[in-house]
Amino acid sequence: MLLRHTPKEITERSALVINPAKTCQPIGAMYAALGIHGCLPHSHGSQGCCAYHRSALTKHYKEPVSAATSSFTEGASVFGGQANLLQAIENIFTVYEPEVIAVHTTCLSETIGDDIKQIRDKAEKQGLIPKGKHVIYCNTPSYVGSHVTGFSNMVKGMTELSTATGKKNGKVNVIPGWVEPSDMEEIKRLAALMNVPITLFPDTSGVLNGPLSGEYHMFPEGGVTIKELIEAGDAVGTLALGEWCSADAARNLDTKCKVPCKVLDIPFGLAATDRFIDALRTIAGTSVPEEITRERGQLVDMISDTHQYYYKKKAAIYGDPDQVISMVEFLVSIDMCPIHIVTGTKGKKFVKRIKELTAHLPYEVNVKDGGDMFLLHQWIKNEPVDLLIGNTYGKYIARDEDIPFLRWGFPILDRVGHQYFPTVAYKGGLRLLEKILGLFLDRKDRDDPETVFELTL
Ligand code: SF4
Repeated sequence: MLLRHTPKEITERSALVINPAKTCQPIGAMYAALGIHGCLPHSHGSQGCCAYHRSALTKHYKEPVSAATSSFTEGASVFGGQANLLQAIENIFTVYEPEVIAVHTTCLSETIGDDIKQIRDKAEKQGLIPKGKHVIYCNTPSYVGSHVTGFSNMVKGMTELSTATGKKNGKVNVIPGWVEPSDMEEIKRLAALMNVPITLFPDTSGVLNGPLSGEYHMFPEGGVTIKELIEAGDAVGTLALGEWCSADAARNLDTKCKVPCKVLDIPFGLAATDRFIDALRTIAGTSVPEEITRERGQLVDMISDTHQYYYKKKAAIYGDPDQVISMVEFLVSIDMCPIHIVTGTKGKKFVKRIKELTAHLPYEVNVKDGGDMFLLHQWIKNEPVDLLIGNTYGKYIARDEDIPFLRWGFPILDRVGHQYFPTVAYKGGLRLLEKILGLFLDRKDRDDPETVFELTL
């Protein structure tokens, strides 16, 4: 029992977090920045932070992640990192020739109080930013927020490039939130099927799920281009998927360039996908093609074919707020019972949304924002579940409590597939159901007495 010291009795804690269900802000900023074509993320802090953030992303995506660092030493830690960042900007544009450098801060540079905008402006004045190239930035102090906040801040930073010419270009901005490269591909596929021209940003498809070609490219083929980001200011509207990950950027575009926005849930599961497809249809004034209707029908068919295996099964879910909200809605829609729900990111709206989604259920749901894995484990000890859903860190709880475990979210360190197979939209819903069903049936095959051991579904 790896977690044998976790007691069943729950004691109120106000200051201590044990096994957080989140990680640090710059990881999100770095992931978002990789979704711009020709972008080199830059970590303004010490080398250790940058090494950790790169390795965290590499372990999840199983791809090399390039990023630069201001490499703070004692001097920069005391007097500030302006000289380091100016030197870094010059070196990076000279040596690696990116289209854009995306700077995020770290705990150290935030504590010193480095003013990134002022340093960026100084670099421009000194001619360190070549013509046609860009430096974007965001603040990511890790002692507040989480990787989700960092992602959101960097996406908002991207919208600072956008300008409005006063002439709409007929495109729709879609901000997908923190989803897998495979999910981004799926969103683009659906938009293409609907004949809706979209600008997806960030877009890590083709960046973190590229092929092994045998050739080295400093900057992979994928990613939203700088031109597209600039022109996002002329779009007819923005669909922001996820309040926590995407809404700030969409609202910034609305304020700055008068691009109206709608904030939706990330389209995991049937209902959230319906809302996304409907919003896309409405904003672009188009209709839903037969192929998408068919995919929806397949998901409905699978739900009805296998519903008896989900019915009244209890689940515990942890992860990022936008993802967890959609997953809870999906589970409730197939008559499962999500009873313990945790996000490591803070946000009262999260608790409110979960309560709304589960209000009609005939039992009390445990829900916590800013929560941790320790509390989740204690809840499970007090009321066991049939399924645990979340990132790799849940495997300790799953093993100790002998619970079927669906790896889903960030990070997944010990499995592959998430980069290539989407879990968004109708096709993604099929994949989620297939995985959940497989877990339940494997458990049934393991535990059923011989007299009821079934060959068929
Ligand atoms: S928490 Fe702060 S110091 Fe630690 S890796 Fe993240 S940014 Fe660096």
